[in-house]
Amino acid sequence: MNKPAWPVVGHDWAVEILSRSVANGRVSHAYLFSGPPQIGKTTLGKVLAQAVNCSGEAPPCGVCSSCRRISAGTHPDVRIIQAEGTSIKIDQIRDLQREAALSPVEGRRRVYIIRQIELATTEAANCLLKTLEEPPARVILILTTSDRDVLLPTIVSRCQVLSLHPLPIERVQAVLIERGVEEQQAHLLARLSAGRLGWALDVVKDPKTLQRRQQRLDEMTALSSKGRTERFAYVAELSRNPDEARQTLDLWLSWWRDLLLLLSGSSVEITNLDRAAELEKASCHYILSQVHSTIIALREAAWQLEHNANPRLVLENLMLHWPSG
Ligand SMILES: [Zn+2]
Repeated sequence: MNKPAWPVVGHDWAVEILSRSVANGRVSHAYLFSGPPQIGKTTLGKVLAQAVNCSGEAPPCGVCSSCRRISAGTHPDVRIIQAEGTSIKIDQIRDLQREAALSPVEGRRRVYIIRQIELATTEAANCLLKTLEEPPARVILILTTSDRDVLLPTIVSRCQVLSLHPLPIERVQAVLIERGVEEQQAHLLARLSAGRLGWALDVVKDPKTLQRRQQRLDEMTALSSKGRTERFAYVAELSRNPDEARQTLDLWLSWWRDLLLLLSGSSVEITNLDRAAELEKASCHYILSQVHSTIIALREAAWQLEHNANPRLVLENLMLHWPSG
């Protein structure tokens, strides 16, 4: 079979499964796309919505009125639902159900992409379950999640699950170069993205993400020479935004992993290529056991944050064990 011409980077096997279902008229009524954030789950969902509603000859053609409006987010039969504030609420699911009971306005199928379904409240998830159990005709639900383990098993079992993975770094780099990013920068961004193309493209669009990253790393290296009071003041501020705190811990973890690579003489390329000189210097100031225990402490803190521990307590505890450079 020829590789289907879907405008999706990577996830070739998933595209093949989906395009075959579309061609055979056997599209499932519910999908769950799982995988890390910003690897293209929603994009794949939108392309599937195009494929089932396209009026061109080779769906998704990308140029017919349906395809164009779906990609612009203005098609009346294709909706993206996501958390309002910190959760997906039962009213959002009820609205979906009311609308899904009606025939499509103009397309062949109504498609609802519900992003980060793990953020649904228990009431919302239970309410959605009813739709999954008795799906209205001509409706496709596409749920996405980066945390499949926390979903109700009854939701997962009623969906066709496609587990998507980050792209190879080289693939991300090639796409960035195609889009005009200079080669060295493309290499750095591809490494930092860990294969999450969406993240890399966001950074190209909005360089502030990269500036924030620099700032958080600078703050981290400064922590080593600070006393307890200053460290606690810093994490008090950071803990106000749990999302930001989680991302910051991931970032710090990547820096310490790089340091571990250098100290252990590994030939694996570091991630934070633009901080190579600083890491090189740090490798003279820390011993292997310190780096190792810092990585363990960071992992533990990240795990606790993910499991809803009090961010301030978690970060304060981390600071108590933070190594002095
Ligand atoms: Zn089309």
